[in-house]
Amino acid sequence: MLHFDDIVFGPISSRRLGSSLGVNLLPSKGKLCNFDCVYCECGWNRDGRSDHVFPTYDEVAAALTEKMSKASAEGVRVDSVTFSGNGEPTMHPDFPAIIDLTLSLRDRFFPEAKVSVLSNATLIGRKEVAEALMKVDNPILKIDASSDELVAMINKPAGRYRLAETVEALKKFEGRFVLQTMFLRSPEFDTASPEALAAWMDIVREIRPREIMVYTIDRETPDKSLAKYTVDEMAAFVKPLVDEGFRIQVRG
Ligand code: SF4
Repeated sequence: MLHFDDIVFGPISSRRLGSSLGVNLLPSKGKLCNFDCVYCECGWNRDGRSDHVFPTYDEVAAALTEKMSKASAEGVRVDSVTFSGNGEPTMHPDFPAIIDLTLSLRDRFFPEAKVSVLSNATLIGRKEVAEALMKVDNPILKIDASSDELVAMINKPAGRYRLAETVEALKKFEGRFVLQTMFLRSPEFDTASPEALAAWMDIVREIRPREIMVYTIDRETPDKSLAKYTVDEMAAFVKPLVDEGFRIQVRG
């Protein structure tokens, strides 16, 4: 399974984000997430060797400053600074302050680069987390399942999670976010069944993201019974929304 040992890594070349510096705010020895998605590239939470120790604000600041100043001095191209890593970045207690620092370093060293955060959106009910996400160029926020029942099967939240509350919190972004949705099926569920798809589209119409990224399983997944969808199938699923004017990227 995929793990990131450094706080700041790359730049790596990404189809979507160009030359991207990655930032991992989670413990380096394993995964830490309040979801345990069946498709997670970092594996199951129970198998992670997580030491549950977040890097401190000072460690993150030192790593970011060193990497960005060095890349700038060496003329390395950086199109994007992306928070992803071994779990959910907004769980870091200093996430808002780290975002402020990242934006100021970006302005100083790579003013053209975009700051992106990949988040499962579980903590956007917290004002300071939502405000930090609204400051970055690309808050990429996840909704895979269109009912609490499906969320329980696919994302397996560790604590209390109510999809309706996430939808309400997403509405406060007033469209200034990118929605990310994984389409997949297994013997137990299908996120693109007619009912699930209709309910997902209703959510999209309610939260009105400025852009939507739909994708399917790519790398090795912890649950081996999962099946992916093709790009053509996914394009057909989202066609009604495209016809309504939503901007949608489909990735296989
Ligand atoms: S939200 Fe992301 S990091 Fe967390 S379990 Fe799901 S895929 Fe893995």
